[in-house]
Amino acid sequence: MSTALILFRRDLRLSDHAAVTAACRQHDRVLPVYVHAPQEDGTWAPGAASRWWLHRSLESLAAQLGIVGGRLHLAAGDTIACLRELIKATGASAVHWSRRYEPAAVAADTALKAALRADGIEVHSHPGNLWNEPWRLATDAGQPYRVFTPFWRKQRAQLPEAAPLPAARARDWLRLQGSLPVEALGLLPANRWDAGLAEHWRPGEAGAAELLEIFTDDAALDYAKGRDLPARHGTSRLSPHLHFGEITPSQIRHALQARADATDARRRPDLEPYLRELGWREFAHHLLHHFPHTAQENFNPRFDDFRWAPADAAVLARWQRGRTGIPLVDAGMRELWHTGWMHNRVRMVVASFLTKNLRQHWRHGARWFWDTLVDADLANNTLGWQWVAGCGADAAPYFRVFNPYLQGAKFDPDAAYIKRWLPELAGLPAKTLHEAWKHPSALARCGYPAAMVDVGGSRQRALDAYAALPL
Ligand code: FAD
Repeated sequence: MSTALILFRRDLRLSDHAAVTAACRQHDRVLPVYVHAPQEDGTWAPGAASRWWLHRSLESLAAQLGIVGGRLHLAAGDTIACLRELIKATGASAVHWSRRYEPAAVAADTALKAALRADGIEVHSHPGNLWNEPWRLATDAGQPYRVFTPFWRKQRAQLPEAAPLPAARARDWLRLQGSLPVEALGLLPANRWDAGLAEHWRPGEAGAAELLEIFTDDAALDYAKGRDLPARHGTSRLSPHLHFGEITPSQIRHALQARADATDARRRPDLEPYLRELGWREFAHHLLHHFPHTAQENFNPRFDDFRWAPADAAVLARWQRGRTGIPLVDAGMRELWHTGWMHNRVRMVVASFLTKNLRQHWRHGARWFWDTLVDADLANNTLGWQWVAGCGADAAPYFRVFNPYLQGAKFDPDAAYIKRWLPELAGLPAKTLHEAWKHPSALARCGYPAAMVDVGGSRQRALDAYAALPL
């Protein structure tokens, strides 16, 4: 009788899961395990919002395993030590897991694999939740891609066609005494600021499937138009579910295509803009794999000499709390604070404002997002910040400074998004909010702060700093 452990990490689902499928097929008895080991993530241990998500997602996985007769075994500490103990207790001969791709996780998994193999244990690492492993695609010259469009062209032509795997069932789910209760992992905030997160999200595989269904039924075919309007539910909001591996890109693609085929197959091409965004996610992982230093350092070393303004805690605090006096920026930052998520258009605006108008280093923004986003993802966050700051791969040109007033007028014309997150301004006309610099006293009467910088002047100072960079 052979026994295997399945080590869950950021693959908190049962369906379309290569590691679960292989373990259930190859072994008579299977023990699902989660080891809480944030110290193994180096400087990028999960932030507060991610920890909240993880707690709920583990509860959800445990509940799903319970339905099929299994029990998630929770442990905490050093992964190698915990697995050795479990192997001893169960007589397991193999461990299966899904790969992770962040530099610290890769180093930890390499060490884990070597230690277990030295003990005579079979180790099987399976693809995680990307379409392609980050090292698979290369330019014709055999180099990593640095530009998205050719990367996507190649990737698009090679998307795996296989249908997602159904949820696997073990012949015998092993149940072991001594599992920690999820509360023992200490993931929930002590002062329970998480009510807003609970209001907006349902972590776990079932929550992901529900959101996918809503998106497929409603916004998916109009994504190209709807995705830029923050007041609308025009995007899928699947990012935290993708990050925690509660759903896979293949499941999403197959569901969207099936839906288009069932209604009007001629509209299949309308799904392309959405697939392309998932392509950015793959590109981000490709970049982080090949350029692991970029989570901390500029992708483009020319920016190493950029004259950032000195880090200023008071300036950062106003940005973080949504008190900059620029309505669209503040609405975004308050959406983030309240829900753990922010619309992509607004992420670009707040990031541009921080790195260009305030000239604070992109790393300060990336850190804040890391702590507050439920979808905080090292690959995507690094790409997003470096893209906006102008120092990333295939980045927005530096001189493209988002004007937060014009962005508001264009993408939130009725100011519905601004008013949702800044209720103190709900009584003012949209035009006043999009030209807030002309109406300081009207905004002040609502208790709203004056703009912390002049948008035009600070833009010019940023462009001057850029012009001073050596060529
Ligand atoms: P949809 O529009 O429905 O897109 C579907 C999926 O495609 C997303 O869930 C995401 O996985 C992927 N995707 C979409 N846009 C991008 C993109 N630009 N780059 C990479 N993948 C993308 N996304 C994260 O998942 N985690 C982060 O930590 C993160 N930080 C960001 C920081 C900045 C400064 C910026 C500008 C963007 C960041 N993004 C990040 C990318 C993007 O904003 C989010 O993925 C998106 O808003 C999530 O909402 P959604 O699921 O509704 O996206």
